Amino acid sequence: MMRFVSTRGGAEPVSLSGALLQGIAPDGGLYVPAEWPSFPSRAPAGDLPKLAATLLADFFAGDELAPQLESITTAAFTFPAPLVNVKNSEARTLELFHGPTAAFKDFGARFLAACMARVQRSNAKPLHILVATSGDTGGAVAAAVHRQPGIRVTVLFPQGMISPAQEHQLTCWGDNVRALAVHGVFDDCQRLVKGAFADTALNERFQLSSANSINIARLLPQMVYFAASSLAVWNEQGEPSSFVIPSGNLGHATACVWARRLGLPIDQIVIAHNANRTMPDFLATGEWRPSATIATLANAMDVGDPSNAERLRHLYPNIAGLRRALTAYAIDDDAIRARIQAGWRDHGAIWCPHTAAAAEALARHTQNGAGGNWIIVATAHPAKFREIVEPLIDAPIETPPALAALPPAQPADQIDPRLDALRAAII
Ligand SMILES: *Cc1c(COP(=O)(O)O)cnc(C)c1O
Repeated sequence: MMRFVSTRGGAEPVSLSGALLQGIAPDGGLYVPAEWPSFPSRAPAGDLPKLAATLLADFFAGDELAPQLESITTAAFTFPAPLVNVKNSEARTLELFHGPTAAFKDFGARFLAACMARVQRSNAKPLHILVATSGDTGGAVAAAVHRQPGIRVTVLFPQGMISPAQEHQLTCWGDNVRALAVHGVFDDCQRLVKGAFADTALNERFQLSSANSINIARLLPQMVYFAASSLAVWNEQGEPSSFVIPSGNLGHATACVWARRLGLPIDQIVIAHNANRTMPDFLATGEWRPSATIATLANAMDVGDPSNAERLRHLYPNIAGLRRALTAYAIDDDAIRARIQAGWRDHGAIWCPHTAAAAEALARHTQNGAGGNWIIVATAHPAKFREIVEPLIDAPIETPPALAALPPAQPADQIDPRLDALRAAII
């Protein structure tokens, strides 16, 4: 039986579906596995759903969802995560943007939705997922939950502050998916969601749940593509891989660290942040100083107080250990722009701003002589950020099939940033 415990140590251990439905632990901490199973690094890579079922079996052990694990991984891993050579370079990119909303969050969102659709709930209240989004999360969750029986989702986004492609992905669904444009900023959306979780009227009617990357069911599946790609390199070359990861809330980086902890052939892990430098500063100074969020070109990484740092610090309680586990760089907008141009000019590659931040971090890191089989994690398709990327490379970006296939956008309902307005919209 796998138990999940709170990073703050003040909550009862729960099994997977308990952690899934609660989202955050009652003591305010985040759920982490109580122990670490080990995964043999010479295991065959296999396809993603099969590898996921093997890798995640120990985490589902003893839970009511265990018998459904294969059906969950088959429903969630419906698109590939190819490793692609970067021309004129020894690095490769791991393309995680082939899902329905063209960003890596599709993996975690689809897995979470597949788990939620199958979990038995003790009461008959309908499950209602609330998501505040500054860009990519809301679209991935909306796409994943659309037409899943027994689940509704309400996505809150700051009106006028997300890209046109991102807004389209929130507003095109209908059915059990509702998008609300909030007259405010992202922090207002987050505040409203927190308020809703504490609201008696809403809790009487619905089982409320969250879908951001504090939820363990979004992190676990993210280990799978780190496993698949590092195993592919291991089977080909007999050497471990090193990853450079565009980071915001640090869910992605935590999943990679966890995959290495399981014994997968992963060597160095470099995280690339944008001008929101809380984590790089923490590693440099040892002091945790969250700050107000700064808007950047890589908007999905605009996080001033990354929640998953708590999971990383739980695994590496002392700063020296954390420094050995991870290296962090902060990449500002000028450097992101320059790297988008260099990627196109030197490698014929078109990178979204997040992926470009990672490529820039790798250039800085290897300048100091760090060798290795480097894999740049490509988190979004550049077409999602065409307003930024096209003028920099002076070339048109093709729309990927998944984005072209989305239903037409519909106008979103608008609300003022007040809890009574949200309550009225939901009830
Ligand atoms: C969410 C996101 C990130 C950051 O991932 P975290 O897990 O929050 O660190 C990076 N790139 C893209 C495109 C994203 O959508």
